[in-house]
Amino acid sequence: MHSPGRMALFFLLASFAFLRPASAAAPAVQADAPAGSWAIAIHGGAGEDEWLHMAPATAAAYHASLARALAAGASVLQRNGEALDAVQAAVQVLEDDPLFNAGRGSAFAADGTNEMDAAIMDGSNLQAGAVAAVHFTRHPIALARTVMERTPYVLMVGAGADAFAREQHIQQEPPAFFFTEMRWQEFATIMRASHRPMPPRPRGVPPAASLTGSALPPIFSHRFGTVGAVARDNAGHLAAATSTGGMQGKLPGRVGDSPLIGAGTYASDRSCAVSGTGVGEYFIRLTLARQVCTLVEEGRTPQQAADQMIHTELPSLKGGEGGVIVLGLDGVPVWSSNTLGMFRARQQAGQPPEIHVQ
Ligand code: ASP
Repeated sequence: MHSPGRMALFFLLASFAFLRPASAAAPAVQADAPAGSWAIAIHGGAGEDEWLHMAPATAAAYHASLARALAAGASVLQRNGEALDAVQAAVQVLEDDPLFNAGRGSAFAADGTNEMDAAIMDGSNLQAGAVAAVHFTRHPIALARTVMERTPYVLMVGAGADAFAREQHIQQEPPAFFFTEMRWQEFATIMRASHRPMPPRPRGVPPAASLTGSALPPIFSHRFGTVGAVARDNAGHLAAATSTGGMQGKLPGRVGDSPLIGAGTYASDRSCAVSGTGVGEYFIRLTLARQVCTLVEEGRTPQQAADQMIHTELPSLKGGEGGVIVLGLDGVPVWSSNTLGMFRARQQAGQPPEIHVQ
């Protein structure tokens, strides 16, 4: 027999389907920064080898892309917009940019498909939405936000998430849209190195043999090209967003840290907003993003908390590589990475943008 409590829960969930759940009461904002002090930081992934041999033209291309994404987020905040809209705006620019491993330009699973993951979190009320292993959504971060706002769930995956995206009229694209020759060649290198067979090129993609001379992509293999953003709006609310194609050559069905709340993405107005990049399995095992915020709640500065997780805890697990961007209540965006480099940029109200490629 069902208990009345269980039945009530069942009807509650059933009636919530595809409706925005009532907002939880927002915790009191304990912002250090004065009202009106918006701030934003973005990242475009961390890495090693790519920083050893980055051609000036490649660096310039990444610089321009980061500047565009930062400006998209900053312009929302300048107009008194919400942190949530700012992180989504910045991430969508990077999802559309084939240089990064998110949306268009995503890494490939071992079967040659793109399985994309994304998460977004609102620090004002701890609402969150995420998707994993979606195949056709142009902006996975928009789908994550739709999960947050139109369902009672936090995470949807695979075919069900694809169907939900179609049903919600979120822009869908064929595999050829997400394909980039550069990412495919990087994928081929990884498959060869691990003695695995290459799957066929996705439908609608020109055959490799037809590419010659200038049609061939420059060789620039950016392993952890995940993208993310953290922001604080003029009302003092924090938000975080992360989007990725995951690890090159992953087994279909593998899900990394990016869409897991508390692992690669976290935001709370009580402490900080975090977005990570690196080998997801380590971020998951350390609940790294949440742990940064816990350290901040315990009194560390965001920089100290980020450095402890990235330079002490992460490398204490063999293979733990990556970085984070963090924005705390003081409104000063910070970052930390234990790799040779991390594409990153930040801006605060009244200050010029700061963009770091090398
Ligand atoms: N963290 C991502 C994952 O493990 C990869 C990345 O940062 O590029 O899926």
